[in-house]
Amino acid sequence: MLKQRGLLIVLSGPSGVGKGTVRSAIFEDTNCDYVYSVSATTRERRPGELEGVDYFFMSRESFEDLIAQEALLEYAEYVGNYYGTPLASIEENLAQGRDVFLEIEVQGARKVREKIPEGIFIFLAPPSLNELESRLTDRGTDSKEVIARRMNKAKEEIELMRHYDYVVVNDEISEAVDEINAIIKSEHLRVERVMHSIQADINAYFEEEAKQS
Ligand code: 5GP
Repeated sequence: MLKQRGLLIVLSGPSGVGKGTVRSAIFEDTNCDYVYSVSATTRERRPGELEGVDYFFMSRESFEDLIAQEALLEYAEYVGNYYGTPLASIEENLAQGRDVFLEIEVQGARKVREKIPEGIFIFLAPPSLNELESRLTDRGTDSKEVIARRMNKAKEEIELMRHYDYVVVNDEISEAVDEINAIIKSEHLRVERVMHSIQADINAYFEEEAKQS
């Protein structure tokens, strides 16, 4: 079978919903062969985060240079910091048949949808707003004021869910991971993605038959 072009998978949803945790769980699986798109950010590095693995951490000046060079597929300013998806390597990976996985906030996801409408957009939703608030508090990385801002933002962000292809509720992490993998697997089986290689096989068969007769 001919190798299919890779899929651009965008996982988004409100902050604190567990996008990062679900994404880590997806990539911890040794069978996972998606390429994670490491974002650039101007926010402070949190304990345990690694440069070039979790993010490319940089100054506002360096980030603004990337914007000026049009080196970002999208970027957004979120709770006082810039976050953006470097363009480098995305197209190359897709062309080589590798699925590229983005985990970004909702404004960025909207921009990606405008530029790459054929991407697969998955919205991760919290089981409830109370649960979302507890998760933000338990994470212990944000002040009360930042949490209140993130909760207000979450309300607006959840309303954007209708612009996505799929919704996964993050109740049990392992279930969310299974659902996301199932979505990606099914997307690879869409007729328009498989049809070309099956058609090529049919053509090759009948060409061979014609030669032999
Ligand atoms: P955090 O500071 O908690 O790591 O991330 C804050 C938010 O920024 C999260 O919702 C995360 O998904 C989002 N984010 C991370 N990388 C990017 C990116 O490249 N672009 C956009 N638009 N958002 C991002």
